[in-house]
Amino acid sequence: MTKVYNFSAGPAVLPKEVIKKAQDELTSFKGSQMSVMEISHRSSLYTEMFQKAEEDLRYLMEIPDDYDILFQQGGATLQFTTVPLNLANNYRRIGYIDTGHWSQRAYQEAELLHKFDVDVVASSKDSNYTELVHQVELENKNYDYVHLTTNNTIEGTMYRDLPSGLAGQTIVADMSSNILGQKYNVDDFGLIYAGAQKNIGIAGLTVVIVKRDLIGKVSNLPSMLDYKKQADKQSALNTPPVFAIYMAGLVFEWLKEQDGVAAMQALNEEKSQLLYEYLDNSTLFSSPVKREDRSLTNIPFVTGNKQLDEKFIAEATSAGLLNLKGHRLVGGMRASLYNAFELEGVKALVDFMKEFELKNK
Ligand code: PMP
Repeated sequence: MTKVYNFSAGPAVLPKEVIKKAQDELTSFKGSQMSVMEISHRSSLYTEMFQKAEEDLRYLMEIPDDYDILFQQGGATLQFTTVPLNLANNYRRIGYIDTGHWSQRAYQEAELLHKFDVDVVASSKDSNYTELVHQVELENKNYDYVHLTTNNTIEGTMYRDLPSGLAGQTIVADMSSNILGQKYNVDDFGLIYAGAQKNIGIAGLTVVIVKRDLIGKVSNLPSMLDYKKQADKQSALNTPPVFAIYMAGLVFEWLKEQDGVAAMQALNEEKSQLLYEYLDNSTLFSSPVKREDRSLTNIPFVTGNKQLDEKFIAEATSAGLLNLKGHRLVGGMRASLYNAFELEGVKALVDFMKEFELKNK
């Protein structure tokens, strides 16, 4: 059977060891003779599992004690709504840094609330989002916070350092596609959120990391959207996504065994470098993204010819290199190389691309 490599942007590849552990424990969680899917979220079996997952995430990201960790539902998309409702409570004005599709979606959802002033304070639209903006001017307006997307999953750009011009501002980050794959200082952010289905685990869970003194300032929010109520109830205000939390816990344990985020980042550098180096030397394929802004986790590339792109995707799929089709908004190809994606898969892709290049020059 052909060995398969899954380049999907999310839901995405999980560590093999994690899938194996879940399989081993599936029918009897911790010797209980019940599956983790069957246990009550009020049981000690659940509470211990939840607390360990939270503790491990705090350790992995070095999350300070004055931050709450929330395990929510509704995906990163619901956070586009929940963050403004909780945090835009003083000036009712939010600044958005527009670096692509997902940052646009974030401010569009905030606009729908008709409660806040939503300003795009900087944008890289003019470059068709092939680069980032590194300087922001806030023009003496007061913002409750400024929102940015640390990694643009579709366009393939990533902030290594935060843009300048944000001193003294509360920064909110959508880290959905590079949380735990790139080291950031949690202290630099008021709030971080991420859907789980890329570097954390499976869909159904969204992690929110929030500085405690920012929450509990708005009354009359729907309970499920109220961070303070969620924090007070350890994210179990209603039935939490037990299996998704369990899977995240297994991924956190695996990450600790791999020596944590710094080791992952080094591996992600190595994997992405291999592909970028080939792309920059190829006469057929190229990366549309500015070098300094290139993502470690999502790498779009093109041949410049739509038919040839399609041919490449079809042949790659037959060779076991799966889910390389670029996002429908940008076309071409995209290789997503999250933490669990193995180096040998990138080597297999580059070898295949070299062969394809020779045959299609
Ligand atoms: N933000 C980013 C950066 C993403 O990549 C995605 C999903 N691909 C989302 C938000 C939306 O996430 P969800 O599907 O969990 O709502």
